[in-house]
Amino acid sequence: MVLHSPYHSPVPPMLDDSPSFQMARRQLDTVAEVINLDKGLLQRLAYPKRSMMVSIPIRMDDGRTEVFFGYRVQHSLTSGPSKGGLRYHPGIDIGEVTALAMWMSWKCGIMNLPFSGGKGGIAVDPAKLSKSELERLTRRFTEEVLSIIGPRQDVMAPDMGTNEQTMAWIMDTYSMKIGYCCPEVVTGKPVEIGGCLGRREATGRGVTYCILEALKDLNIAPSHSTAVVQGFGNVGSVTCQELHQRGIRIVAVGEQHGSLGNPNGIDIPLLRAWVDSGKKLHEFPGGVAIPSEQLLEVPCTVLIPAALDRVITAENAPRLRCTLIAEGANGPTTPDADIILQEKGIMVIPDILCNAGGVTVSYFEWVQDIQQLMWSEEQVNRKLEDLMLNAYSRVRNLSVTRGLTMRTAALALGVQKVVAEMNKRGLFP
Ligand code: NAD
Repeated sequence: MVLHSPYHSPVPPMLDDSPSFQMARRQLDTVAEVINLDKGLLQRLAYPKRSMMVSIPIRMDDGRTEVFFGYRVQHSLTSGPSKGGLRYHPGIDIGEVTALAMWMSWKCGIMNLPFSGGKGGIAVDPAKLSKSELERLTRRFTEEVLSIIGPRQDVMAPDMGTNEQTMAWIMDTYSMKIGYCCPEVVTGKPVEIGGCLGRREATGRGVTYCILEALKDLNIAPSHSTAVVQGFGNVGSVTCQELHQRGIRIVAVGEQHGSLGNPNGIDIPLLRAWVDSGKKLHEFPGGVAIPSEQLLEVPCTVLIPAALDRVITAENAPRLRCTLIAEGANGPTTPDADIILQEKGIMVIPDILCNAGGVTVSYFEWVQDIQQLMWSEEQVNRKLEDLMLNAYSRVRNLSVTRGLTMRTAALALGVQKVVAEMNKRGLFP
């Protein structure tokens, strides 16, 4: 008998059945050939070092008990504590979390951060739970995975469906368990309890730095550029703001419940205020509602998927009318779509480079918490820009010199960094 619940998907599918995991594996196999990776090392990298699946019983506000499925995956522990977000989404499963953890390994490798890749998730629609139910869910999940997390083991951060408040509950639960205040167990916390200035905006800022560099490479002036953004959460809304400030017109934007277009450019600060006041994005008077299935196909210079994975597929890739894709989301483009985009001459700034600003400032936050020495927002932004530009130019140079796509070049740099560390450490025992 299958137990059905209105809150989450009832049956967790296994690893190899997952399209996201298959996609991450296919990318790894492709790059393994390019860098001539040893077969034994490929086997070690193809599956996670450690995965934990937990059931999380919580008392709902009406007195019933509900059980949710949660996951924490540590792809590798070679380069330092595993690091990666915690996602609350009804469709999340072990395969998707594993793919995301693997991508985090390569991302930390490209950015030269002393972290390995990790990721977590709970199969839940957070919009259907009250704040107190979400708090109980988060605290109980933390308790269930307590044995494998910690500032030297595995450090979580916000992702889709989670935020600073979620991180504060995790930090508090962990601190209560170990008996002292431990802000460095999570990043992306509120600034009042050891969060880093500029962390909330970091991913969108990093996406913007990459876009500006790519426009230079493509010889296109920002003032002559337009953008379409899918997602108006943390990454999407900050990217919109940053691009708008630099004179790039946002001609369409969409989120879960609808999309909005305006060929003359949407007034992003006004849209932000409209959405923050609880109104629906697609009802904003400074544009017209457009069907969400057409959003990605609106003509523009830069297309920015900043919501879900696998939204650019072999089916819709032929209809895209952009010059550049900047992947704010993780895993938005399937490998089959990649081939079509390459044929069409569309440049892709891959997720593991483009959205790496988040984990980079998470690293800054972790360092500040350990040192108990906090930086100014200006210091944070300056260091973020330095590291993003440096990573972009290393990926771009490899792509040009070896004739690789930006994705393959980024994967090659990320995988090679992890492999170099594995080789130096050797194989225990
Ligand atoms: P978020 O929860 O703040 O926002 C998600 C947005 O996606 C919302 O606007 C939501 O309405 C929209 N969305 C959901 N379903 C959609 C659908 N079917 N169609 C269109 N829009 C839809 O999440 P976020 O933190 O902005 O993360 C977005 C993506 O960026 C994820 O892939 C995440 O892994 C990635 N990412 C986030 C960070 C970070 O620091 N937050 C860092 C790196 C990568």
